[in-house]
Amino acid sequence: SSAENQDNDETIFSSLPPLFRGHPEIHLRNGIMKASRQAAANETDAESAFFVADLSQVYRQHERWRQHLPGIEPHYAIKCNPDPYVLRLLAALGAGFDCASNGEISQVLDIGGIDPSRIIFANPCKATSFVRSAAKAGVDKMTFDNVDELYKIARVHPKAELIVRILADDSKSFLRLGTKFGASLDVVPGLLAKAKELNLNVIGVSFHVGSSCYDPSTYEDAIKRSREAFDMGKRAGYKFSLLDVGGGFEDAQFETAAIVLTEAIDRYFPDRGDIRVIAEPGRFYVSKAFSLAANIIARRAPMAEFQPECSNLDLECDQPSVMYYINDGVYGAFNCIMFDHQTVHPYVLSLNGSFHIAAAEALALSSVWGPTCDSLDCVCKRVELPSGLEVGDWLGFDNMGAYTMCASSQFNGFERSKVIYTTGGAGGAEVKKVLGEFGGQGHGQG
Ligand code: PLP
Repeated sequence: SSAENQDNDETIFSSLPPLFRGHPEIHLRNGIMKASRQAAANETDAESAFFVADLSQVYRQHERWRQHLPGIEPHYAIKCNPDPYVLRLLAALGAGFDCASNGEISQVLDIGGIDPSRIIFANPCKATSFVRSAAKAGVDKMTFDNVDELYKIARVHPKAELIVRILADDSKSFLRLGTKFGASLDVVPGLLAKAKELNLNVIGVSFHVGSSCYDPSTYEDAIKRSREAFDMGKRAGYKFSLLDVGGGFEDAQFETAAIVLTEAIDRYFPDRGDIRVIAEPGRFYVSKAFSLAANIIARRAPMAEFQPECSNLDLECDQPSVMYYINDGVYGAFNCIMFDHQTVHPYVLSLNGSFHIAAAEALALSSVWGPTCDSLDCVCKRVELPSGLEVGDWLGFDNMGAYTMCASSQFNGFERSKVIYTTGGAGGAEVKKVLGEFGGQGHGQG
């Protein structure tokens, strides 16, 4: 009921942290200054790493999507970053959601006011209990790519609207998914025949070209395969009405991918009148919206009075001689290095306690490490950083919104980095309009 939804709304949003105005850079600085003040006053936790999330950036990505892919309905893949503000914003902007588990479905429905038809349960291999609770929650759309899944669904959710996930060429992506999911076209007719026999309703086709797809022409081939799968559906006695083009959208390649997709859909589905096209973008929406500030908590550097055989300023030497230890690492936000093949690029936020960094600052070959006792916990093996950096200085990392905090652990007892929310630049006013009443306390301060 709407009363229940309202209750949900209040519960969720009363627990949200404040939403600040102004550009993320200001909040990075404010956060650091606050930490420095606390450090000066000998308070604990003064140096904790923190994220700054610019919600207007998420808004701008949504606008970009609508401009370049107006005929494709985005279903945000919440696995990528299930941040409550991001979910709330995208829900208000009318996006759908791609969920991979029970927990994600609950998180979306708990926002309140979201019809379960806006969710696709896009995990082709689900636990029976998850399928059952999806049925209870009214989530009908779900993917499959194997025959066991069909038996499972027939037993506990016979009214489900099924989408056959086909195998796409994922060789042009940093994160390949085809080894785990996707039915090759030669097995699709058998799967559809089995679905028919079990009286199941298959409504369409999905694919995923792999995450971080660097060659947008892959979408063309995937659409061609989808066309074949649609024809197989027709031969099996189905009339498919949904095409799900998955995720994989890279920020820098987005406009090109949009052109390739649009042209391929026009070519292979020329009379697409009654076919709904959806997508499952994750990283596209959030990657750029989050930056991380991390404090240098320790340093191992050669002592000035004992010069090493080869100094780090010596071009002959290619081994970093200065090691910085920061308070987030690969067991935390930087798990993206291990699980998502990301490389991260630190920049200096404060040098020698000051924000004023001289352009002529001498650089030294350095390495950056996370805080745990594991030697695997390396954030950057080699990076040039100003030689004057000290314990207590801050490093910044941009593009930290995708596949970072969602998979971070508390290994060694280190807490996850918290988020400061801002409404940043262009689009900020719209974000405030949508989210304004929620978490509005404390505007203007970091
Ligand atoms: N859909 C599915 C089924 C996925 O597995 C993933 C990522 O793993 C996504 C969507 C999101 O992909 P991306 O973040 O590359 O857009």
